[in-house]
Amino acid sequence: MKRAASYALGCKVNQYESEAIAELFAEKGYEIVGIDEAADVYVINTCTVTNFGDKKSRQLIRKVKRQNENAVVAVVGCYAQTAPEEIMSVEGVNLVIGTKDRGQIVEMVEQYQPQNGVENYVTDIMKERVFEPLSIQKLANRTRAYLKIQDGCSQYCSYCIIPYARGPIRSREPKDVVDEVARLAENGFQEIVLAGIHVASYGKDRTDTNLLGILRKVHEVEGIRRIRFSSIEPNVVTEEFAKTMAELPKVCHHFHLSLQSGCDRTLKEMNRKYDTQKYREAATLLRKYLPDVALTTDIIVGFPGETEEDFKASYAFAEEICFAKIHVFPYSPKNGTPAAERKDQLPSNIKTDRSHQLLALSDKMSGEFLSKYVDKTVEVLYERSVEAGIYEGHTSNYMKVLTNSDVDLSNRLVFTKIVQVQGENAFGEAIL
Ligand code: SF4
Repeated sequence: MKRAASYALGCKVNQYESEAIAELFAEKGYEIVGIDEAADVYVINTCTVTNFGDKKSRQLIRKVKRQNENAVVAVVGCYAQTAPEEIMSVEGVNLVIGTKDRGQIVEMVEQYQPQNGVENYVTDIMKERVFEPLSIQKLANRTRAYLKIQDGCSQYCSYCIIPYARGPIRSREPKDVVDEVARLAENGFQEIVLAGIHVASYGKDRTDTNLLGILRKVHEVEGIRRIRFSSIEPNVVTEEFAKTMAELPKVCHHFHLSLQSGCDRTLKEMNRKYDTQKYREAATLLRKYLPDVALTTDIIVGFPGETEEDFKASYAFAEEICFAKIHVFPYSPKNGTPAAERKDQLPSNIKTDRSHQLLALSDKMSGEFLSKYVDKTVEVLYERSVEAGIYEGHTSNYMKVLTNSDVDLSNRLVFTKIVQVQGENAFGEAIL
């Protein structure tokens, strides 16, 4: 039996696509193995969000070829899409595919003839208007499934290459979304994360639905107990949106609401389409309808031209919003973006210092958020056993909870009393 390995670098959308690609090979009779094992086919789903992502992708290509010099190495994803010639020049590559036509990847691999050298299937993504259907059914973790409902981005943030890697926004057919959710529910999944490159844009290219419309449809699927969005933007949070979140009981009380900077001048230079006032309103609306909501976010520090004053404004705004967690990213220039061309790049010691300051704030706010739950009872969906007799799960507002139990709690929703918090974890007693 032939063996295939499918591996994603980067975001959850890439991970979803790599799972889907693995299932395509499995359907054709391949044994699916890990990326560190000897295989006949390696599919590497690359990330190009930073220049470092490019480097990691190139390193992985070389590594898998060393594992089996006769293997067919197919390189897909954002880096392959934006720089196919660069990928073609990496030793060991056989096929370059990009961010579309992955549905035919098994045929492309099987038809590949070594004497033809490197084959390049990358075509212009900017003209793409149709969502490419790739689906998953059998993820290893049987509790939470990421479901890609959207591709592409038309926001053109000044630091980001993704609109060129993924093309314009394309929303998945509502029926396909619902069918896949129903299959996942049949396979035991209770929690669905609606994911995409820019989920907030779902439905903008369609006349028959929008983000709330698809959410309502997914909400109707029996067997699904929880629904999350991978990330949203403040512009989608209207009064109607926040009210709907409270009316739909399966919607989790956790929103990853992209901020990127808490300084209006920097937001403008980043070409983000909101300001801090809009963000404040979105946070206030979500808290009005969902008082226990957890808000998490991403913030970039050391964007070109970010002064000490700008950083202080960003820090103060993060403190005001009171996040449950901040993912901090020191700015990293990405070739091909306007921000990377700027002459006012900051030295790395300033970026590191600002990262540390914001991470310390995140830890402090996270601790305060968790400690509110000590002695309270919360409902936890347990995902897995992390070691013998210890189970890990999450609440609706994404608090990580660990508990001891002799009973198998995997994939069970269990009321749990929180007794202690430590770092990012809460420890509880399951009420069985
Ligand atoms: S919204 Fe901005 S950061 Fe996000 S993918 Fe689109 S361009 Fe990139």
